[in-house]
Parts: sequence; C-alpha cells; structure tokens
Amino acid sequence: MKTFTGAQIRQTFIDFFVEHGHTAVPSSSLVPGGDATLLFTNSGMVQFKDVFLGTDKRPYKRAVDSQKCMRVAGKHNDLDDVGRDDTHHTFFEMLGNWSFGDYYKKEAIAWAWQLLTDVWGLKKSNLWATVFKDDKGNVPTDEEAAGFWREQPGFMKENVLYFGRKDNFWEMAELGPCGPCSEVHYDRGIQYCDKQDVPGHVCRVNGDCTRYLELWNLVFIQYNRLSPDKLEPLPATHVDTGMGFERIVSVLQDVDSNYKTDLFAKPLDVLRSLTGNSEKEMLADFTPYRVIADHTRSAAFLIADGVVPGNVGRNYVCRMIIRRAARFGTKIGLKEPFLAKVAEAVIATYGTFYPELEKSRGAILDNLTREEIRFARTVESGTAQLQNLLDGIRKSKSSSASKLDGQRAFDLYATYGLPFEIARDIAREQGLDVDEVGFRAAMDEHRIASGGGKAMGKMGGEDAEFFTGILKDLQRKGRLDEHGVEYDPYTSPRVEGEVLALILNGQIVQSASFGDEVEVILPKTGFYVESGGQISDEGFIRSLPPFSVEEGGWEIEITDVRKPSAGIIVHSGEVISGQPKVGDQVIAEVDMPRRHDIMRNHTATHLMHAALHQVLGPHAVQAGSLVAPDRLRFDFNHPEAMTPGQIERVEKIVNDAIAADMEVISKLKAREDAIAEGAMALFGEKYGETVRTITITPLSNKLSPGMSEISSELAMVTPTAAVEQLEKYSYELCGGTHIERTSDVGAFLIVSEGSAAAGVRRIEAVTGRGAYELIARRFKTLKQTASILKSSIEDIPQKAESLQDEIADLKKELLSLRTQSALSTFNIQLSNVQTVKGAAVLAVEIPNSDAETLRALADKFREKYPKNGAAVLASGITVISVVTEDLVKRNLKAGDLIAAIGGRGGGRPNLAQGSLPVDLKVSEALAKTAEAVKEKLK
Ligand SMILES: [Zn+2]
Ligand SMILES: [Zn+2]
Repeated sequence: MKTFTGAQIRQTFIDFFVEHGHTAVPSSSLVPGGDATLLFTNSGMVQFKDVFLGTDKRPYKRAVDSQKCMRVAGKHNDLDDVGRDDTHHTFFEMLGNWSFGDYYKKEAIAWAWQLLTDVWGLKKSNLWATVFKDDKGNVPTDEEAAGFWREQPGFMKENVLYFGRKDNFWEMAELGPCGPCSEVHYDRGIQYCDKQDVPGHVCRVNGDCTRYLELWNLVFIQYNRLSPDKLEPLPATHVDTGMGFERIVSVLQDVDSNYKTDLFAKPLDVLRSLTGNSEKEMLADFTPYRVIADHTRSAAFLIADGVVPGNVGRNYVCRMIIRRAARFGTKIGLKEPFLAKVAEAVIATYGTFYPELEKSRGAILDNLTREEIRFARTVESGTAQLQNLLDGIRKSKSSSASKLDGQRAFDLYATYGLPFEIARDIAREQGLDVDEVGFRAAMDEHRIASGGGKAMGKMGGEDAEFFTGILKDLQRKGRLDEHGVEYDPYTSPRVEGEVLALILNGQIVQSASFGDEVEVILPKTGFYVESGGQISDEGFIRSLPPFSVEEGGWEIEITDVRKPSAGIIVHSGEVISGQPKVGDQVIAEVDMPRRHDIMRNHTATHLMHAALHQVLGPHAVQAGSLVAPDRLRFDFNHPEAMTPGQIERVEKIVNDAIAADMEVISKLKAREDAIAEGAMALFGEKYGETVRTITITPLSNKLSPGMSEISSELAMVTPTAAVEQLEKYSYELCGGTHIERTSDVGAFLIVSEGSAAAGVRRIEAVTGRGAYELIARRFKTLKQTASILKSSIEDIPQKAESLQDEIADLKKELLSLRTQSALSTFNIQLSNVQTVKGAAVLAVEIPNSDAETLRALADKFREKYPKNGAAVLASGITVISVVTEDLVKRNLKAGDLIAAIGGRGGGRPNLAQGSLPVDLKVSEALAKTAEAVKEKLK
C-alpha cells in the first residue's frame, strides 16, 4: 500500500474527481444556511439538498467536496461514543462526489474502483461491494450496479453481496427523492476483528465488527417516494456519495484507530508534552486524550464558523464540548488552561485546507481559554454538589431511583454551569444516570421564564427612556441621590455596593442564572466608561462576602460598561456562576492588568502627541484617538506622509521621555485657567466649567536641592537631558486614566503610519506588553528567516542582497538562453517566408519570448531582408510588426498590420508593437498576415 498524509488523501480525492470534470466546491459552514430544522450540518448532502429537490440550481453538473460535519445533537448524536472508541467523532469530514442529472452508476462505480485501487493502492481482493435487494420484494434488485462492480478490472466477482432496505436503500425524508445505494467495504484481515471471542459472531461484511469497514457509500437517486408504498422513477437520476475521511485515512495509513492517524498526531503530541506522558502511557489511558483531541477540533471549527460558547442551541453545544474537554483534561492532570495549545495544533493540521481556521485563530484561542477559566471557577463546587446528589440516590433504597432528576441536573447547570452531558458522564462513571428529558424540559422552561429570544434593549431613544425610568424609580426609593450613579474610575478599581437593578433581555428582573447576559446597576462604579478614545473597562462583579456558590455566592464577568442616559451607568456581562439577585452586596473589580495596558497606551498617546508637535510642528493636532489594551491609534492633522526619518525621531523622543521617568499629574481646574496656561484642548470638543488636566513633567523639577547634583550628573549621562529641561513636557485636557510615571510605559513602538482621511495621518503603536510581544514576534520571524537563509541574524541583509544578485544573474542567463532558443526557432521559421506581391512576408509565433526578444528578432529579420520584407512576430499576447522602408512607401505600415490581424498597438510605420486579445488564437491571427499584406501593398 502507498503511504499518504491525511492532507494528501483529501487532495488526491478532490484532484481525481476534478480530473474527471467535477467542480471542486468548498465545504459549507457547520451552521446550515436556510435549514432551521438542523442544528448542524451533519452530512455532505446538506448543501446540495435543494439541488436534488429541484428548488436550487448550480452552474455545474458534477461536484466534489470535503464537507465539515458535526454529529453531536439530535437524531445523529455520536457524543456517547466519542472517546470510548477509536472511530467516533463529534466533528468529522465527509468526502463526496456528486452528479446532478449527469453521470450515473457506470461512471460512479468505475471511478470509485479506480481511485481506491489505482490511486490509493488498496488491495483489490480485500474490497467488497454491497448492492440493494429488497427484503420486501417491491423494489427491483439493483443488478445494474452489481454488474458494473463485476466488470471492474481485478474485482473478485464473488465479492458482490446483496442487502436489504436497512443497509442499502437511502431516503432523504419520509417522502421525496430516494434510491438504492451501493457500499464499498474493506477487509482489514481477521486480526482486526474485535468480536472473535463473541459466541455466534459471524465475521463478514455488515457483521458489526471492526474487521470489515464500510469505506464509501454510493447513493443512486432514481425514485421519488409519493407514499409509504409508492415510488415513481425520477426524470433525471443523480449520484451522491459519501466517504468518511477519518476512516479512509486510518485504512490508508494502516492504523487501528482514527486517533492514530496523522490528523490527530499534532494535538496528541501537544497533550503528551503537557502531561509528560510517554506514548505507551497515553495509549494505556487513551480515552481522555481522544476526547480532548476530538472536542478541541470541533470547538475550533465551530468558533471559526461563528459559534461561540453560550447558553442556547449551537452555542450551548460549543460550551458543552469545551467544558467536557476541560474536565477530561483534569483526569490526566491538566489544571491550567491548555485547550488553546491543543487548538494551535489543530490549526496547524487543518489551516491550509480550511483557511477560516487561520483567519479565526485569535477568536478560537481566546474563546477556548476564557471558557476554560470560567469553568475552572465553578467545576469543583459543581461536581461536589453533584456528588452529594448521587450519594443521596445511592443511599435511597428505592431501586427505581438510579437516575438523577432532570430539574436538579438543570439547577446544577443554572448555578455552576455544569452541562448536562458532563453530569451524565460523572453519573455513568458510577453506574448511575441523569434524566435527559427532564433536563431539556427544565431548560426550555427557564428560557421562557427569563424571556429568552427577545432582543436586548439597546435601541437609542427607547433605551435612554427605559434607563431614565429606572433612575427616577431608584431616586424615589432613596437608593440613588440626585447625581445618580457615582462615577470614579480614577481612585479605586475595587468598589463595594449593593445590586440596585438587574436587566435581562431588556426587562427588569429580580434575579438571573448561570449563562445569562445581564446588565447590572450599582450605586457607585470604578469601571471606566468609553470616552475620549479610551475604551471601557472589563472585570468582575462578585457577591460579598465571597460566599461559595452553595451559600448563594455568584460572579458576573463584565465585558462592557456604558452610560445609556445621564446618571446611569450599566455594567453588562455574563453570569459565570451562581444566581445574582437584586439587593445582594457585591464588590465590583476592574480587570487591572488590562486597565494597566490601557493606561500605558493613554499616557503614551499624550507623549506622542507632544513629540509630533516637536517633529512636525504645532499643526499636528489630534483628529481622533483610540486607546485599547493591545494598541493605540492616533489621528492627527498633517498634509503628507511622514518620512521614515520623522517616524524614527518621534519614536525616539517618546522612548526618551519614557526613560526620563517623568511624573504624570492629574488636576481639576477652571477651564479658562487651564486654557490660559496653554493646556491642549481639542477643537469642537465640549468641556464643562471644571476640567481635568493631565500634566507630564520631568521629575527633576521636584528634586530637593541636595539631590540636584545627582540629577545633573544623571542628565549628563542620559540622552534625555533635552527633555528634562522642559518645564511641562505635555499638558492636555483629558478625562482618561493614566499611569503615575512615564517609565511605566516600558517601551513604545510605532507599528504603522498611513492616511486616515484627506489631510489626516494615522499612527498605530504599541507599548508595554504589546511592545514586548511585537518584538518577540519579529525576532521569531528574523530567526526563522536566518535559518531559512542559513545565515546569522546580523548577516540577513547581506545574504538577501547576494541572493537578489544571484537571481538577477540567473534572470540574465535565462534571458540569454531564451533569446538563443527563440533565435533558433526563428531561424527555422525563416524558411517559411512567403512571397506576396514580390515581398518576403513572415508571420510566426515564438513561444515564451518577451517584447525585447521579439524586437531583437525583428532586427534579425531586417538584417536578412533589408528590402522588400514584412514580418509579424507574436508571443502570447505580445505582437511586433516590422516593415522595410521601401514597403512603407508602398503603403504598408507596421501598425496597420497589427490592426489587420485583430490586435491593437502603435509605433513607427516601420516598427510597431501591440497586443492581441486574450481570447484570440495566436496562430489564427497570424494566418491573416499574408492576406493583409496583399490588401495593403500597392
Ligand atoms: Zn469479525
Ligand atoms: Zn488623554
């Protein structure tokens, strides 16, 4: 047998059918478009269903694809088996070739045979085919397909078997298109049978053991079912085939588990390096590894298709499989978030064929880690609570109660975020079970009770009115004073208070549950609300004192803060544990590492603003700004692109200001005073009577007299002396949050400079951790480049230059070889000169030549025919025409010749250059030359 990588197997399948006239169609999304009955795309058929039903048309009649599929919910639910065995997956790929009223059984069977045996090299005598024979005797036996199988070269004629409706008849639904199918099975040999010891086991095709594997199902759609016992032939017949990708890879790579193919090699390597286990140790306890590898792959593909962890439908499935993978991680000793590392390996394996994975890399890694962290906060108390319930069941004498009540299972989800599937895993590990129907019912009931499905109330005026109502109500009850919610993002990132209001789905509620997206109003907040370009804070609101979840504790992850109307500040986020209630005491805590990144970027923005004034002039004032944790973006007035030298200077000045460790001071002042002192204010911005100012000042101004010696010494050795001489380095009106000393910025790097609008430039830059990451990333690239170039980092420029020189030399050499080869073609063609009205005429195609070569050849022609000659030379779409002076006088012009054969171009009467239309055949165009000369020549 030949050896192929998984990627090669997929590609050879697609290439094979493309060679046979099929169009390669990309996989459709895991979220089926326009099919509300399906949670996930679960077969290759989904994206072509409407074509078979006749309600959709495609520009092709033959298609080939590899379809992403999920079987994790509903009728096709393989979740129970995933991890326990070597063949089941939640996500898998289905290879298929399709005929829409085009070819039929003969071709489908011949191509299947050719691909399996010639291309992939499977042993012919090990292949079996099954065809349809109606066990009820109503539908004709598919002797047609059986006959085609027996015709295949090398097919063992006795290897055709007949099976009935269960195995070999396919129906799309109760009514509609249907037909017989023919399956290809592969005999892996008796050693693969897992039922050798089972009494009564008959080892054969469809014998339900692991020796015979169904590789490929060819469905021949030829009937339309009108009623349970009435079929009519379809006017056009179709082919729909499906081959489980993971299975064929395991067969072609000759391994006894899909998880031992190269498709899972990288993710499993990552897991083994994390656990430190050997391959032998891993195989001895393979289930957790299989579950994690499978679930991480599914989650990565789901997130790439826009399905992120959540509480309902597809989002619930995404959450559940991530949490299930995380729990299996704890079984092999993995505690820290680890799924992102596994997902990197999934992306490395699949990213080339499925570019959506590469594109969504950030979202995939981020969602996995976030969900793991959320789960880790509650999993212990959740499983402990479950254990109590299971112990209770075991103690109760009643034999009927071996199942955990569905409502209780739902309570575990609503409080601890423990998905049903995980509760069931744990119960089953102890010989118990969980009532699934009861769980679903409780979940549906909760969704209706919490008003799920309604849009969030973020609708302009209506929204403001809604929140003004809440404000007035809270003021009437004395919970808020006339100023409303107290806002102080400057002094304390941790604020205590009481939950004044909870909003869920645009409605005021008294409590919320796990997974709910809620809005919370507190009497006071330290969360910054987006303004002046600085984006809002994130963080947590937690019940106080920090009760455990059993004691009624809870936690909300805050991802946005806004001010929908005067006096009201709303924190929005997801309940990640417990059940928050109005009146609960809480602590609201800003995510400080993130805020710190933001503050570094904000202070750096002020430093850069000042530096731009130094380098470009006072006209370079702010026109827009974004201050985020990972970067800053600054727009400013300047009529032209900055030169590389200017960019470098700005970067240098800001980094000097950082190194000078200046003080950042905020002060409240009367607006007029601040402006009079020269504080930078933004044109068009509205400021109140009292303004907040940010001054950045060299520390030396504040040094005590005794320190001045040291400071002047320092000034001599540091390059920042110029900076320190300034009294105020920067002075701006600003409501944002800043670090206390410029040295906290760490480092400042400009990432890009470009145009934002007419007369407005835009700089993007990074600081602190972002700057470190950028440097680390670029160093990695440099190291890779050095290793590719087999050079040291320092020698890269030299090495690249010498490579460029080498390429230039090779190009020259190639050109001279091409000219030589063109010349020899040309010399041969000279014998084809025709005589037209006494003139020597040559029309010739010289492949692979550029215009320069063609002109050189035209000169050659003139050397040979200094008089009485005309030639048209073409290569691809380039065409050159040459006419001797005496013929020009006889009214034959070079440009006219090009026009006469269908080209366009211009030049002198004796030499013209042009191009031929791409769809024109060059030989046909050239054939018109003689006729054109005959016509023009007087
Ligand atoms: Zn068997
Ligand atoms: Zn500012």
